Amino acid sequence: MNAMKLGWFSELNSELWPGVALSLEVEEVLHSERSSFQDILVVKTFTHGKALMLDGVIQCTEKDEMSYHEMISYLPLCSHPKPKNVLIVGGGDGGVAREVTKHPDVERVTLVDIDDRVIEVCKQYLPRLSLGLNNPYVNIIVGDGFEFLNHHQGEFDVIITDSSDPIGPAENLFKHAYYQLLKSALKPGGLIASQAGTAWSNLDQVCSTFQHCKAVFPVATYAVTSVPTYPTGQIGFILGSLTEQTNFAEPVKVFSDKDLDRMSLMYYNDKIHRAAFALPRFVEKALNA
Ligand code: SAM
Repeated sequence: MNAMKLGWFSELNSELWPGVALSLEVEEVLHSERSSFQDILVVKTFTHGKALMLDGVIQCTEKDEMSYHEMISYLPLCSHPKPKNVLIVGGGDGGVAREVTKHPDVERVTLVDIDDRVIEVCKQYLPRLSLGLNNPYVNIIVGDGFEFLNHHQGEFDVIITDSSDPIGPAENLFKHAYYQLLKSALKPGGLIASQAGTAWSNLDQVCSTFQHCKAVFPVATYAVTSVPTYPTGQIGFILGSLTEQTNFAEPVKVFSDKDLDRMSLMYYNDKIHRAAFALPRFVEKALNA
């Protein structure tokens, strides 16, 4: 099926969300290419600013990206007492790097994305996101996150996996072996957060990723946020901690309104942090089954 029809992009992906497709009205196609790993498309929309699609799946739009990028960054960062050394796996658009570098305790950031073309295209077309990639504290490595972790042990306080979905180059980042590698790459007291899909359309996938995390980390949980241009308007994160005492739902770092303004945060605060862990009963039951 044609994803671009009559000036509309439609997110047709029968495997990940059968029978439903979000559509955005497109003013202009800014860039389109096939990289070594995936189809990369950047469009200007009439209502949501510019948008990045990989393999026909919406990764972010300028209008609502802050919800995803702030939440996947500050849920783990504000759950760690001193997150000095942070690894981002994926995140080639720069949105997570932009947020992580605002946290006052963060001293070092490493970003490993498999596709240098995503990085270059986002630098060219999505400067509001990619400004995180130009920060001198961010060390960018082009490579497979799974392979990178194979060679790094006991290094990071927080690892954020901002990957695409489990079909394509990110497939290995949703497996049990990846969670074992994440655990080994953490310093004592370290913790992780990973993009983990939505329970409305991918409950099985959410549960299997959660089980991988739970099998490896003494504390594992799932949180959600709303992103109107993701399938079903929602996305979730799997979080894991090496420390049994970690209560992800209660931030150890609370930013004042003044801090939040200084950091230009538009979505995250401590109230929405706590609320992210309030799950519907069907999700709680599926995770605990
Ligand atoms: N927020 C997005 C979402 O869930 O829709 C994720 C966006 S981010 C641009 C996804 C990135 O993960 C892409 O740049 C892609 O190249 C990268 N990626 C996919 N598989 C990877 C792997 N195995 N190792 C490192 N990066 C990977």
